[in-house]
Amino acid sequence: MKILKIDHIGIAAKSIKQVAPFWSAILGLQITGRETVEEQKATTAFLPVGESELEILESTSPEGAIAKFIESRGEGIQHIALRVDNIEEALKELKEKGVRLIDEKPRRGAGGAKIAFIHPKSTNGVLLELSER
Ligand code: ZN
Repeated sequence: MKILKIDHIGIAAKSIKQVAPFWSAILGLQITGRETVEEQKATTAFLPVGESELEILESTSPEGAIAKFIESRGEGIQHIALRVDNIEEALKELKEKGVRLIDEKPRRGAGGAKIAFIHPKSTNGVLLELSER
């Protein structure tokens, strides 16, 4: 498995519109993309920061993972995504090493990326996403 960089940091927000002014007007970052991924019941806004990005996530449904996260832990950092060169290979390797996976197979994320989540039980409480694009 080859980890290339921190792809993005996922931030859960009740409303992208409400939090966007801090990141864009105050910090001066640009929102370059906005996308709703129905599969994840979330709308995302991407703000590039150097080699990585911030991903602000807003739930499209009370049943979505982001809504549930905010309900139990409040708004804030929800996950960290590492970019890998080959996600299928990485998942296979992690499974062989006994790591608990949320996604055994990659699914489609924002920006056409292939993504998969690793269970926080295996990562000291960090929801880790692998991303290949
Ligand atoms: Zn993400």
